[in-house]
Amino acid sequence: MKRYCYLCKGPSVISRSYSGEVLCENCFRESMMTAVRTAISKYKMLQRTDRIAVAYSGGKDSTVLLSTLVEIQQRFPQSEVVAITLQEGGKQDSERREVLANVTSQLQVEHITSTYKELFSLTLDEIADLARKLDSPLSPCAFCGTLRRQGLNILARKINADKLALGHNLDDEVQSMLMNLIRGDVQRLSRITPYLKGVPGWLVPRIKPLYHIIEKDLLLYSQLLGLPIYHPPCPYKETSLRNEIREWLNTFEEQHPGSKYNLHASFMKIINVLQNETEVPFQKCQRCGELTSQAICAVCIHRESLSKLNGKK
Ligand code: SF4
Ligand SMILES: [Zn+2]
Ligand SMILES: [Zn+2]
Repeated sequence: MKRYCYLCKGPSVISRSYSGEVLCENCFRESMMTAVRTAISKYKMLQRTDRIAVAYSGGKDSTVLLSTLVEIQQRFPQSEVVAITLQEGGKQDSERREVLANVTSQLQVEHITSTYKELFSLTLDEIADLARKLDSPLSPCAFCGTLRRQGLNILARKINADKLALGHNLDDEVQSMLMNLIRGDVQRLSRITPYLKGVPGWLVPRIKPLYHIIEKDLLLYSQLLGLPIYHPPCPYKETSLRNEIREWLNTFEEQHPGSKYNLHASFMKIINVLQNETEVPFQKCQRCGELTSQAICAVCIHRESLSKLNGKK
């Protein structure tokens, strides 16, 4: 049965089971831009003169993030958007570089790239290989996530960015919250927030303007944008706890629409309380000098665990 937009009666492109809204393309696009603007103003994520580094991988989330921030930035000519990409290293890097360069030139934004190899002397494949050969208890995702977090901060700092924008959506946030709960890592749970304050000269403040948008909506929006998306499935994805949680969450949402939003809202209330109780002091890593909540940062711990395991063989 053909359905019509509940706002303007135009032909619909989406029916949101969690809210009952049926929207046409224009009203849907407007609702997405409103969600981004609301997130930015609610958490005071941006200032008029900010230089914003956008973590851009070429996937749907970061493409939507880049394009929406470019659209918003046009109303604030003193601000600036720069796309930054950290490549894991592998056969697909050059193909990906081409697609990303195409998008950044269409959007007319500066694009800075670097690699795991340049920053940490190993590619993701080399890390995964080493971890497998050495029977490391950690999955490639555990190494990759840590390296990416630190690498993006290093890149953003290098280009003197005032903010580092990440394309995390509501699904990503709920998955991370559940993962930390399962691991019993309350300290890390308390740091999952749409705006993470920085430390001048070290940690660039992190913002997540898409934090309140579900993945399904972002997928449709990215298709409507008409920009090329490049995100071949990562060969290590199946190994991750996140993947298991993602599948469980999607099934649960199908059976109980609105669960993702409700889980997110509940977690945000818990995190607010945690933030008041657990102030995490930052310090410089004793090995590499990067900022960390422990004496030695997670990147150095991972690198050392790999070389220790290597020494035992
Ligand atoms: S799925 Fe692949 S890219 Fe994503 S964190 Fe895991 S290893 Fe890294
Ligand atoms: Zn409409
Ligand atoms: Zn370190």
